[in-house]
Amino acid sequence: MSTHDVINPATEERVDAVDLLGVDETDEAIAAATVAQRTWAALAPADRGRLMRRFADVVDGHIDELARLEIANSGHTLGNATGEASNVRDVLHYYSAAPERLLGQQIPVAGGLDVTFKEPLGVVGIIVPWNFPMPIAGWGLAPALAAGNAVVLKPAELTPLTAIRLGELAREAGIPEHVLTILPGKGSVVGERFVTHPDVAKVCFTGSTAVGQRIMRGAADRIKRITLELGGKSANIVFEDADIAAAAAAAPMAAFDNAGQDCCARSRILVQRSVLDSFMERFETAVKDIVVDDPALGGTQMGPLVSSGQREAVRGFVEDAHEDVDIAFRGSAPQGAGWWYPPTVVLPTGTQDRIWREEIFGPVVAVLPFDDEEDAIAKANDTDYGLSGSIFTQDVGRAIRVSRAVEAGNLSVNSHASVRYSTPFGGFKQSGLGRELGPDALDSFTEIKNVFIAT
Ligand code: NAD
Repeated sequence: MSTHDVINPATEERVDAVDLLGVDETDEAIAAATVAQRTWAALAPADRGRLMRRFADVVDGHIDELARLEIANSGHTLGNATGEASNVRDVLHYYSAAPERLLGQQIPVAGGLDVTFKEPLGVVGIIVPWNFPMPIAGWGLAPALAAGNAVVLKPAELTPLTAIRLGELAREAGIPEHVLTILPGKGSVVGERFVTHPDVAKVCFTGSTAVGQRIMRGAADRIKRITLELGGKSANIVFEDADIAAAAAAAPMAAFDNAGQDCCARSRILVQRSVLDSFMERFETAVKDIVVDDPALGGTQMGPLVSSGQREAVRGFVEDAHEDVDIAFRGSAPQGAGWWYPPTVVLPTGTQDRIWREEIFGPVVAVLPFDDEEDAIAKANDTDYGLSGSIFTQDVGRAIRVSRAVEAGNLSVNSHASVRYSTPFGGFKQSGLGRELGPDALDSFTEIKNVFIAT
């Protein structure tokens, strides 16, 4: 069995070593989950809900520990890591009410009684990326378990520690053995096996669009259910009638939070030409004020990138790019050990530039001007992605028109907040398939069964 050394991105020191599982261990876990799922689904709904509330409470008692683990493993800031651990607790609480509310319908028919049931799928495979290890695990496992499924979950190779700990906390809370199994391993081994294994009924994947396409192709062989949460290149549109000071103050962290390693990052800023200068002046001050430092310190706003490879990938878009990239201004970054990269604002020559079109997944944001509402919408939609977006304007009519016109799953007006556990989240176009979170997520972890009883 091979192992993976977990490295602290802020110090480059080894934190831990994790065994990478193979196909045989994955198959054993899926076989055990298949058996455990039947007992889990047969529990009284109130008991399943109670166990999920206990799981939430145990997570709540370990928020600080989970946050510290994420800071060491992923370089997330203290504020973010604490929020991410709290998010797992909240998602578990939210879906703990679901077992007793998985309502079906009674449909009027002749000659009998017709009712529908929401049946669990069986074993669900969840594949998690490295950028938000805890929340993305929680968004999959909580509704899946609530609906009566067993879960096998593969964390990303780089960031397995918090998922492994969550698996232990589930057992501590009384979630039965094999109902939730964490399987650290390679995507090409454990992840692929979720796709090919006949007893995994559904794969819930978050990650790059390229791997998502591969999973979709593989799932076709068995008509396997899938949810895909993929890449993004979201637009932040600032109109001339907006509160420009507020828009400029909010724009940096909308792009640089989690060092830009965020599928919802507003990595394209579109500013109406008439207010471009006044926006850029304020934006520059705000970018230079970002505190990039040791993520464990309370005042830090941005930490390092997750790995040296990710930093090289980001550099490849800016410093080592084939095309000349015009850097408008940059924030700061610590020197020395750690995979640091400064917040960077670039000015593309037009919408065909690679830096404007491709997901960089690092602290780089591109700014382009637009002329009018029609031009803003056209430029915002000129992308294969469609995950999130923001609109800054004081005109209510325009806010509604543009929100309806932008082809993306999650839009915010005069705000960049796009993910809440109680509202649906997911992408248009190549940003994904299906929705997570909110009241409807349970539908993607159940099958509707119709039963007719002759009277
Ligand atoms: P990635 O696609 O490389 O890996 C994601 C996960 O898939 C990892 O666990 C990996 O091991 C696994 N994997 C890799 N190859 C596989 C295969 N052949 N079969 C099965 N599993 C496989 O992505 P990443 O670099 O870890 O994450 C960054 C990407 O995730 C970005 O594109 C980002 O936009 C996207 N993302 C999207 C959302 C969203 O909700 N839409 C959220 C977070 C991240």
